[in-house]
Amino acid sequence: MAEKSFNAFEMAQTQFDKVADILELEQASRDILRNPMREYHFNIPVRMDDGTYKVFRGFRVQHNDARGPGKGGIRFHPQETIDTVRALAMWMTWKCAVVDIPLGGSKGGVICDPHNLSMREQELICRGWIRQIARDIGPVNDVPAPDVMTSAQHMLWMMDEYEVISGGKYPGVITGKPVGQGGSLGRTEATGYGVVFTLREALKEMDIKPEDTIASVQGFGNVAQYAIELYTQLGGKVICVSCWDQGDQTSYTFRNKGGVKLTELQKITDHFGGIDKKKAKDLGYEILPGDAWIEQDVDILIPAAIENQITQDNVEKISKKVRIIAEGANGPTTPAADKVIEKRGIFMIPDFLANAGGVTCSYFEQVQSNMNHYWEKDVVLGNLDAKMTSAFIAVSDMAKKEKLYMRDAAYVISVNRVAHACRLRGWI
Ligand code: GLU
Repeated sequence: MAEKSFNAFEMAQTQFDKVADILELEQASRDILRNPMREYHFNIPVRMDDGTYKVFRGFRVQHNDARGPGKGGIRFHPQETIDTVRALAMWMTWKCAVVDIPLGGSKGGVICDPHNLSMREQELICRGWIRQIARDIGPVNDVPAPDVMTSAQHMLWMMDEYEVISGGKYPGVITGKPVGQGGSLGRTEATGYGVVFTLREALKEMDIKPEDTIASVQGFGNVAQYAIELYTQLGGKVICVSCWDQGDQTSYTFRNKGGVKLTELQKITDHFGGIDKKKAKDLGYEILPGDAWIEQDVDILIPAAIENQITQDNVEKISKKVRIIAEGANGPTTPAADKVIEKRGIFMIPDFLANAGGVTCSYFEQVQSNMNHYWEKDVVLGNLDAKMTSAFIAVSDMAKKEKLYMRDAAYVISVNRVAHACRLRGWI
């Protein structure tokens, strides 16, 4: 039976309800944590390059800020919906809690497709987004960051607009900024590297050497590229990556059984992570259908694209050889597919643990921006490794002790921390 149409927020609530039952949470905790505390929906009018006006829809959802200012990215996506933003904001709350940084969970979005917008039009969307929300975000209440199809340049335009409105310098208002403009060294690498720090720990626990493993990766954006970089440095081999093809409006998998070469692929990739098919073919890559990445005979799967990718319809295609799934994306696995993966005993490193490196480094960036004092790259990456490693060990210890699936163990830790903060503040 096909899964009913995908709704990310229903999925986030289903995951939460399961853990609320495990924890026997009281009703008030369920009520406060199951829904966002606040949300903003607004219009962003933009005068387009051809002189016409277009109105874009923007969102910011603040799920929970009991542990500190809200934190989370802004996505530019043609299929953005308020429910997707709500789910992503909720996952940010759990993400900040699992790595134990003093931040809450938020997310923002704009319904738009940057593929079809000039840089000037994108700048006006960024500035318009800030104008609508400037009073409700800020270094001490909610701090945005990059996400799908937004970059350091978008963050800088947003910071600039905020500073114009506020009449001062506030580099701590946003993270993921360019280095030299309030950005942190290591932030670009942080999410992908963080995925591999947790993967390295999982392999260690399972007594498997990275150099004896092969991985298949979905996506070729920022997270995927840096995950591949570090994983191959550890000795692993990636045989597949996949990406969205804007021209054909479909995705493709690029396979090289000898191992994909990161730098050669990066040279033929646009800044949205789209790989040039013809050039890839000339370099000897096989071009396969979009979901071929999932059915490869590999040890590790790294979904690092977007939500709703491992579903009831394709989960059975996962090879018997697969031992670990490290979720670089937010929400790539639906609850129905998750049940199959749990039953098969595949070791799951769940999204809000595996990809927490980005927000952890954003936290370091905030600290640096607020102090106006910047750290060396090896200090940033060393602190990131330490945070990710201890979060992984805490979740894995909890999973072993309570005989829980890794996703549930991560949820137990996060939900407990956030519910505790709400209780201490007298909210519930
Ligand atoms: N967008 C990233 C995430 O989903 C980073 C968020 C941040 O740095 O605040 O975790």
